[in-house]
Amino acid sequence: MDGSRFSLYHIQHRTFKVFNKETRNDRNSSKKLLNKAFPTIPYSENKHVNVKGHKSPFDGDITYWSERNSKLYDGDTSKALKRQNHTCGYCGLKMFSEERVHLHHIDGNHNNWKAKNLLAVHESCHDYIHMSKTAR
Ligand SMILES: [Zn+2]
Ligand SMILES: [Zn+2]
Repeated sequence: MDGSRFSLYHIQHRTFKVFNKETRNDRNSSKKLLNKAFPTIPYSENKHVNVKGHKSPFDGDITYWSERNSKLYDGDTSKALKRQNHTCGYCGLKMFSEERVHLHHIDGNHNNWKAKNLLAVHESCHDYIHMSKTAR
């Protein structure tokens, strides 16, 4: 027994009363109107609505290498890659190579794991970012 079926019963019950009152019909024609307003849906068509899908986190291009390299990447890295359309946040090239993907913390705070602060970049690009930072 779930809540939605219970509240549907309430709506039907109220509508039934309203039909009776407003149309001054007898109970039988009100019942016909009610069936028009709420066509009977077999329970079997409803019961799977709340079942969660098992969508793979990997789709499209990412499958190409994620199957080989998935152990190298934690959840945050693959999420960042997905946000960036699987391109490097520094050079903009697709992450197709065998090169490791690094997560760069934009504000330099390695305890800040907010999505906005994370940038997936090539290992070599990551070196560039930090080299240019220290050069400044
Ligand atoms: Zn890069
Ligand atoms: Zn970094």
